[in-house]
Amino acid sequence: MRVETPREKYAKEVFGLNEDAGLTRIKAAMDQHPLHFMSVSPAEARMLQFLVRGFGVKRIVEVGTLFGYSALCMALALPDDGRLITLEKSPEHHAGAREMFRQLPAGSKIEALCGDALELLPTIEGKGPFDMVFIDADKGGYVKYLDWAEKNVRKGGLIVGDNTFLFGALWSQSEDRDIGAKQIQIMTEFNERLADRSLYNSIIIPTHQGMTVAQKL
Ligand code: SAH
Ligand code: MG
Repeated sequence: MRVETPREKYAKEVFGLNEDAGLTRIKAAMDQHPLHFMSVSPAEARMLQFLVRGFGVKRIVEVGTLFGYSALCMALALPDDGRLITLEKSPEHHAGAREMFRQLPAGSKIEALCGDALELLPTIEGKGPFDMVFIDADKGGYVKYLDWAEKNVRKGGLIVGDNTFLFGALWSQSEDRDIGAKQIQIMTEFNERLADRSLYNSIIIPTHQGMTVAQKL
């Protein structure tokens, strides 16, 4: 996570995740890792919880676990019989996440699978249709993940994508990284497909990184 802006700090303090002491402790441990900035921010995590609660979500698929912060936050918002399957390619990240999931009761709602999401997704189709798919892995894979999500999310369910401003590369030279034309084309297609009002009730929430939220009609 970047350094918090005052508005994010205010949002976190008033509408934040402070109600769960276990989560706060786990987050502090995760923040020791150099890659922790890839995780959603507490304000974005709150947004995900808002969606889970508000749309009656019970079955979630997450693409891109990292150390499990977003998964744990969504699991906390799920009802007792809710389930979340999270997919992670890196064995190191997957192992770190499992360790975190063991430490909180909400972790028992999570099934963490290790492997390339493109290979794992077809193997979990039988557990669907799902109420929500949260896409937060390699940006070059977003259209393929969307193809899968479109088929495996129920009518009225949600498809959510993080980092959908592609680090600013969709409107200018990326601020902080080298983004190729192929990735730009992929994220453009991802957003344009979800912006189609005949198929989705949708929005791109202008968080720092951009979060596309689409309800399948
Ligand atoms: N959702 C997490 C952050 C995910 S960061 C959170 O907010 O806490 C993106 C993760 O996607 C990284 O851990 C990376 O290893 C993983 N990833 C990248 N390509 C992947 C793929 N093809 N399949 C599964 N996971 C992948
Ligand atoms: Mg992200």
